Amino acid sequence: MSTYETDVLIVGGGPVGMALALDLRHRGVDCVLAEATDGSVAHSKVSTIGPRSMELFRRWGVAHRIRTAGWPDDHPLDVAWVTQVGGHEVLRVPRGSAGDRPASPHSPEHDRICPAHLLNPLLMEALGTHPDGPVRLHHRVLEWTQTDDHVLVTVADLARDTTHMIRARYLVACDGASSPVRKACGIASPDRYEPQVFRNILFRAPRLRPDLEARGHRHAMVHFLLLPPAMRYPMRALDGEGLYNLVVGGEAAAGDGEDAHNLLQRAFAFPTPVEILADGKWYLTHRVADRYRSGRVFLVGDAAHTLSPSGGFGLNTGIADAADLGWKLAADLAGWAGPGLLDSYDTERRRIALRNLEEANTNLTRTTRRELPAELNDDTPAGRRARAALAEAMEREHAAREFDAPDVHLGFRYHSPIVAEETEEEAAGRPGATAPGSRAPHLWLSPGTSTLDLFGAGFHLLALGPEDGVDGGAKIERAFTDRGIPLGTTPLDDPAVAEAYGSRLVLVRPDGHVAWRGDEPPASPELLVDLVRGVVHP
Ligand SMILES: Cc1cc2nc3c(=O)[nH]c(=O)nc-3n(C[C@H](O)[C@H](O)[C@H](O)COP(=O)(O)OP(=O)(O)OC[C@H]3O[C@@H](n4cnc5c(N)ncnc54)[C@H](O)[C@@H]3O)c2cc1C
Repeated sequence: MSTYETDVLIVGGGPVGMALALDLRHRGVDCVLAEATDGSVAHSKVSTIGPRSMELFRRWGVAHRIRTAGWPDDHPLDVAWVTQVGGHEVLRVPRGSAGDRPASPHSPEHDRICPAHLLNPLLMEALGTHPDGPVRLHHRVLEWTQTDDHVLVTVADLARDTTHMIRARYLVACDGASSPVRKACGIASPDRYEPQVFRNILFRAPRLRPDLEARGHRHAMVHFLLLPPAMRYPMRALDGEGLYNLVVGGEAAAGDGEDAHNLLQRAFAFPTPVEILADGKWYLTHRVADRYRSGRVFLVGDAAHTLSPSGGFGLNTGIADAADLGWKLAADLAGWAGPGLLDSYDTERRRIALRNLEEANTNLTRTTRRELPAELNDDTPAGRRARAALAEAMEREHAAREFDAPDVHLGFRYHSPIVAEETEEEAAGRPGATAPGSRAPHLWLSPGTSTLDLFGAGFHLLALGPEDGVDGGAKIERAFTDRGIPLGTTPLDDPAVAEAYGSRLVLVRPDGHVAWRGDEPPASPELLVDLVRGVVHP
């Protein structure tokens, strides 16, 4: 049996495993990604890539591919709550289209629609399959043992019907919601809310958009149906080219449910040709693993958490996990990580998964508890009153938040031993956006260049304002150099950036989060460097 070596073995070539491989490649870390299947996606479900994920894809050099993957620039991104598609519209959140949205005030990247059947192949192409890249298709991880300094993994090459061993410094499980690796580690992932069964109907309706427009309706990215009990969930345009997914819940999903054609007929207010491509049940679970680490094994993405899809946070939470773990693994492999650095992955990311799980569940219960009166679809004065009352209630309950939550995607903040937490006094008068642990904010420096583009694979020190700020920065630079830790520095005399960042010196981590800020260098730059690399001083 052959044995080969790598620094990091990633189990699972879903979008999260590939995001981690991209991050590791960006940092020059050798990795192998084992994916059990041929990598194709039969039933696309994910479609919204949030703005933080897009910022990360921008860093990894694939944002442009995602922007141009296929979603048409002129397709409305609106969300419309309707009694039927082409029926009565109760509420619409106009979101423009990819081609005509104004630039985001928060990010150099907008969210993008890129369903898994387009996203996964383009990520795989960017990475490359063996021997040109780290992805090994038809490779199933069977079992492993770990020692103090490596993990020895048995992998089946399903295409050649052989087995070989991979010796890796770390094993990262990106093996999805049922995560065999998590189970083998004995890590529980308890249900935080009652699981629910749903049904996804994937279908093609090539004439739906022109048929709607011919009847005077504006199309939408999501038609949120208001047809209780089974069809009170989204019908989502997946690729903007006639491919859709309808989520059906409740009684109709319980087994002997209604025929998919009947359901679609009821969902539309007019006949339009449809071709059903897939129709399957899935289980919505709300779980966060009790631990994200077992020795040299880490859990990332759905292996670590499964959230309700309401809000589109699942994949995005996983991609941010990958960005948090990637630089810490790179630091450890390069020899400059302190003993607490890898543990901070669990501390930082579990808390965010728990927060996102609650957000997603709040969105879900807003939908499932919504009162939908029987006369809602009626062409009568009572029907009109019911629709107006529902629209008001939905405005009051912020129904649009499910599709517009920049704070969830961009506003999260890490609290951990590797972040220089501030006292109230230190924080006073400084912007919350650069509080240590937050994602460093975006501002345009010149057309097409964001502050985020300054940050490379190492730490980065922004020395803002007139020249003398740079002198203070030199002490910090020296402390990094003395410990052999990569640090880039940008002196920047830009009033808008200085105001938004609110401190003369801002130290940004390799994942783009603020580690520390101040107007003067700290009393001991050496202690600061030790803190941010995970050395805990007694
Ligand atoms: C209806 C629906 C809609 C959704 N919409 C969104 C959305 O719009 N936005 C969003 O952010 N999230 C969304 N999600 C959530 C999203 O689908 C998941 O969070 C995401 O796919 C998880 O990616 P992953 O890479 O962690 O896992 P997966 O995509 O499940 O990939 C795991 C991979 O591991 C492989 N594997 C497993 N075991 C082994 C092994 N032993 N050896 C080798 N390979 C192995 C599998 O073959 C698989 O390819 C949605 C979910 C649902 C159900």
